[in-house]
Amino acid sequence: MYSLFGQNITGKWYETQNPNASLEVTIDKNNNAYSGSFNWKWKNWISTVNAPLDHVTVKNDSLLFELTHDNFKLSFKLKKDTETDTYKGFFYLGSRQLEPVTLSRIPIARDMSIAPIVEKTYSRQDTLRGKITDERAWWNLTHYDLDFELDIENKFIKGSNTITYTVLEPKKAMQIDLQEPLKITKVVQAGESLSFAREGNAYFIQLKENQLVGSSKKIEVYYEGNPKEAPRAPWDGGFSWEKDANGKPFVFTSCQGEGASLWWPNKDHMYDEPDNGMTIRVTVPEDLMAVANGKLTATKKNTNGTTTYQWTVVNPINNYGVALNVADYVHFSDPYKGMKGTLACDYYVLPENLEKAKVQFKQAHLMLEAFEHWFGPYPFYEDSYKLVEGVGMEHQSSVGYSGEFINGQRGSDLSGSGWGLKFDYLIIHESGHEWFANNITYKDMADMWVHEGFTTYSEALYVEYHFGKKAGEEYMKGISHNIENKIPIIGDYDVNDKDITQDIYTKGATLLHTLRQVINDDEKWRAILTGLNTAFYHKTVTTAEIENYISQQSGLNLKPFFDQYLRTVQIPTLEYYFEDNKFAYRWINAIPGFNMPLKVKLDDKVQWIKPTTNWTHEYTNETKNELIIDSNFYVASFKNMINK
Ligand SMILES: [Zn+2]
Repeated sequence: MYSLFGQNITGKWYETQNPNASLEVTIDKNNNAYSGSFNWKWKNWISTVNAPLDHVTVKNDSLLFELTHDNFKLSFKLKKDTETDTYKGFFYLGSRQLEPVTLSRIPIARDMSIAPIVEKTYSRQDTLRGKITDERAWWNLTHYDLDFELDIENKFIKGSNTITYTVLEPKKAMQIDLQEPLKITKVVQAGESLSFAREGNAYFIQLKENQLVGSSKKIEVYYEGNPKEAPRAPWDGGFSWEKDANGKPFVFTSCQGEGASLWWPNKDHMYDEPDNGMTIRVTVPEDLMAVANGKLTATKKNTNGTTTYQWTVVNPINNYGVALNVADYVHFSDPYKGMKGTLACDYYVLPENLEKAKVQFKQAHLMLEAFEHWFGPYPFYEDSYKLVEGVGMEHQSSVGYSGEFINGQRGSDLSGSGWGLKFDYLIIHESGHEWFANNITYKDMADMWVHEGFTTYSEALYVEYHFGKKAGEEYMKGISHNIENKIPIIGDYDVNDKDITQDIYTKGATLLHTLRQVINDDEKWRAILTGLNTAFYHKTVTTAEIENYISQQSGLNLKPFFDQYLRTVQIPTLEYYFEDNKFAYRWINAIPGFNMPLKVKLDDKVQWIKPTTNWTHEYTNETKNELIIDSNFYVASFKNMINK
């Protein structure tokens, strides 16, 4: 029996407002003084707080209590509401008001289970798109020569791709991909037309010539049609047919995830890049300019009112990194003296944005300075560096810019730390991909964190380079608040799994920041980041190769570390307690063998502890029994007050 709102406030109270949390507060009264305990569990966020209340104050119709969780001071300021028999108010972190809270005597039944990971099902088309099929494996791409005309009025494309390859195995069935509604109209090898069969977006071509191992061959693939329009570029890709301020056409492509076969025929699997690069020849109306990848090597005015622009890429290029941008572009350049000499930096923007771009794009040099420091030379000196107004995407040597020429991500700071407003997110993030996405490219989309995790982390390194280490750390801590932990970072292999989690960005970056703490040697860490870009220069990789490389270079067995953060959604949690002179701790919420060392402050003394999933007992002479975990580690903690 509780006497509501009388003197007797003791007993259990339940929070009723937050559907994603379950909060219980127990209040006791002894010798006229209140005390209590606090239990808070979040759904889909494997962290619990189980802590004593530091102070409880009951005064007239108000109830105040405070507690400390890690180094955070939490307080609740509530007033009684006699109509609903509840205490209502707010919850504060320090002096910052956070969420509204209502405490009731009635327990709230909530499903606090974590959403199960649903087995996904895949179609034959998913396999044809995502697997290194037999019809792909036997030949190695060496060059693409893409040549097409764009009919903007009719949103129509027509052209050909001449594919050069080396024969690895003597087979005669070749898979080339082109997505509907585009269609392949003709395939030619050595002057002879070939037959082909279509299965959805995959074409199986029957070759006639003998394919001798080691020989170099060419095949010409002709195609045409109205390419898919992008419903929501760049997330749902395709062609975007827009207009500039003068009403002139402004056309650009995006195809990450969907794949380049969305707009041109190719071997649409990321594992194979053309070793000797690509030529892109685009014919557009003569009052417009076409910008693609690499360097502009020829411009030809045709007699029918069109101009053909030829762009040449000499390095291997990842296929979603190939871009088409067509507009009445204005151009300016600003060469950069970098680690490998002078890098041509060319900028193409709509006429109305020229003055703004001249100011904003100065950040490209700041980016190059920071990233060459952390990752080594810009990987495509021969192909130049470009910013091209279009879609925000890491198009190789032709980074797409869709920003508003202001700092932040269209003016907002993804980290909430303030540091995100010190740079233009689109310039820094998309250019960071030149190292992680274009230089080091995933073989399979399941490993997309290699692109987005490292590149999101590169934002923090940019901040660190220009504003100091503390600033970089603050940026990272802010980014880590956006982690969802709904599904693991690593997706399904061999099916081009497009169902990606945002955690490939935020958690991918956060685990790298945590790993830097574990390695605990900033020069070694930088050598690893630079070394990755040398060891995997112009290569496609698996996450396992990246994991092994970092393990080898650091001298640590990082398998449990990567398995924990990449392949589970659990936040490793340090469970600990103090008893007399004893300090005991272990990892929970962790995979077997998880043994990440941790930097902590124990009674004001900084030290490293080496928890495993079994209890470790240490003796401590200190008496305050206060443990603070270095906040650069992405972990949770749980001070066990009951079951020690
Ligand atoms: Zn990105």
